[in-house]
Amino acid sequence: MSQNCSVKKCTRTSRGLCDCCQQELCLQHLTEHNALLISQLNPLTDEINALGDRLKKLDIQKTIDNSRQKLEQWRQDCYKKIDNVFEQKCQEFAQLINNRVSQQRDELNRIYLKMSELINTQETTRQEIDALTSTIRQLEENMNNIDKACSVINTGPLIIDDTSILIEKITEHELDLSTLSPVYKTIHRPKGSFRPFTGNERYLLIHQQPNICFFDREMNIAKQIVWPYGTIQDMCWSSALNRLIVLGKHNIFLINENTMSIDNLHINEQRCWLSCTCSDTVLFASTNEDASSIVEFTLAPAIKFSREWKYPLTCAKDEIIDSIIYNNGNLALMNLSIESIL
Ligand SMILES: [Zn+2]
Ligand SMILES: [Zn+2]
Repeated sequence: MSQNCSVKKCTRTSRGLCDCCQQELCLQHLTEHNALLISQLNPLTDEINALGDRLKKLDIQKTIDNSRQKLEQWRQDCYKKIDNVFEQKCQEFAQLINNRVSQQRDELNRIYLKMSELINTQETTRQEIDALTSTIRQLEENMNNIDKACSVINTGPLIIDDTSILIEKITEHELDLSTLSPVYKTIHRPKGSFRPFTGNERYLLIHQQPNICFFDREMNIAKQIVWPYGTIQDMCWSSALNRLIVLGKHNIFLINENTMSIDNLHINEQRCWLSCTCSDTVLFASTNEDASSIVEFTLAPAIKFSREWKYPLTCAKDEIIDSIIYNNGNLALMNLSIESIL
């Protein structure tokens, strides 16, 4: 039996499934829906044209000139710094030489007076002659040193390398929340998979029972490793270590992305863990207990306990720290009252 058009009050027979609304429609309504879809093309064309115009009008020279100005400023600042150091060192050196010369002059005067005195009195001893000779040799030596003074200046090379000026790449993959795209792909989660997930620049890291999987940007599994260590409470990526940090119930693990090996750190195994996050230098882990603590571990040269923040600094007595996240010098805590989770 033929079906009726899905549009209300339309009694015509349906002629096909409409692509835009997934409903069975009659020919007239199919045409209408089709026209409606086509009409949406025009505003899109306008937007593309507008973007094209903007690109054409983009003043590349101005953008380059602005950057050049910034680099020019850097150059001027560097020149100024060199000039300042140069002036300061010239003065320092002149001061040093002047002091030496005036000391030498005083000493010469002193010995000259002494000589005159001896000549006037026409009397001297062997000892005095030796002392005078030794002083004259010393003054001679001092004169030589002043002559050679230039060679006591040691100059090091000015180190300007590629890191003196860093040009940040314009990132194209940055997430713009104002234009969040529709669902891109759905990953099916097998039963028994643990909830926490994290990511690095290349992969989304997620537990898919029985594996820990590295999903690439196309949401394909790039690599995976069997996870035999039970509950995963949390995980975070450490750029400093280039390792995935996995928090078990009592253990902390590192996963090496290149060798796909799991390393149990065997540290503070008497503690119960719940959440973790890391900065460039430390790992923070919150404890799974009433009035939770936050334990800090150093990352380098080895992962080691460094300190612990306890209640009431971390949370109230009847609260638990459910989740922590570090960003840009700040640690954010999500605390839940124990009553609310019972
Ligand atoms: Zn339709
Ligand atoms: Zn119809």
